[in-house]
Amino acid sequence: MNPRRPLFLIWVCVLIAALLASLATTGPISNAAATALKTRAVVLIVLDGFRWQEVFTGAEHDLMDAKHGKAQDTTQLRKDFWRETPEAAREALMPFLWTVVANQGQIYGNQHKGSVAQVTNGFKFSYPGYNEMSAGYPNPQINSNEFGANPNATVFEWLNNQPEFHNQVAIFGTWDTFIDIFRAKQSGLFVRAGWNLPWTEQLTPREQLLKKLYETSTRVEDDDAPDSFTHEDLLDYLQTHSPRALFVGYGETDDWAHAGKYDLVLQAAHEDDQRIAELWRTMQARPEYHDQLTFIITCDHGRGSGLKLWRDHDKNIPGAENIWIAVMGPDTPPSGEMSNVPRVTQSQIAATIAQVLGQDYRTAVPQAAPPLPILAQWQPKIEQQ
Ligand SMILES: [Zn+2]
Repeated sequence: MNPRRPLFLIWVCVLIAALLASLATTGPISNAAATALKTRAVVLIVLDGFRWQEVFTGAEHDLMDAKHGKAQDTTQLRKDFWRETPEAAREALMPFLWTVVANQGQIYGNQHKGSVAQVTNGFKFSYPGYNEMSAGYPNPQINSNEFGANPNATVFEWLNNQPEFHNQVAIFGTWDTFIDIFRAKQSGLFVRAGWNLPWTEQLTPREQLLKKLYETSTRVEDDDAPDSFTHEDLLDYLQTHSPRALFVGYGETDDWAHAGKYDLVLQAAHEDDQRIAELWRTMQARPEYHDQLTFIITCDHGRGSGLKLWRDHDKNIPGAENIWIAVMGPDTPPSGEMSNVPRVTQSQIAATIAQVLGQDYRTAVPQAAPPLPILAQWQPKIEQQ
């Protein structure tokens, strides 16, 4: 028996282990890393045109009146949302975001603290923004909300075309243009958007009531249904479906800003925050989602600032390119409010959705931006506050 043989075998084992370890740490997204992820389902939630200023510093005092914000009850509005510090004000406005997401996840975009999140499409309005976040790159052709069917496949369509995710992808939104953005006819995606939903024959009493509300409520915006309606429709859907990739688009924050009604912008944002909390708790309570769910919460564009331009956004409005992005899930370290970090962009959201599901979107779509640096193994050195 050769006494050196065991030693030789140990050396071989050490070399193989070292080789595997180096592959796992240097590979773009190695199978070892992908299988270590816990996320089984991702939800992308968008508050249309809701500014980073309100997200990080709460309601703006000078807009909380009849003159600049068309407030109906200034006293009540300030009681509800005005606080002495930005931290208290933002928590009053969005309690779920600041007591749960900020403690368990990461929030990018507070420019006062050296975190910048931006759209790169240059247009700074909705269709180009929803395309950028869901396809992973801006498309200069898309220069109008009336563009028609999207020439680009989105990451949702890409996931739905894979056997593992087929028919487990759903789009819910208040705005009927989501039918074009996610090109419902050609993508085969399940899309519920706008006022005119395709109701089935057999409805539960709850669905009958919801259908009546859709059909008889005053249409403040003829292409954008109330957030509360879409939200209830989504909760119904989740009772019988378990999507692994879900888009949720709430529109009122943008509608009320265009109307100059700052009090209703705040109210809509507050209610959206509570809807997101309800969605999180509803899904977390189910075994197929429990501790396997990642939420990405963002807006499609920012708006201007000052006493007038807060209402508007387009390529000529300074600051409307600035957004915010929050991520919470079992694979995202709880770094909280990010400070002094490199700029992130809206285009990074698509590859992030795929990555937390263990999928490499950029091999299929090379023009897509890289994922946000939200995974433990990818985390850059963060200076925590
Ligand atoms: Zn708008």
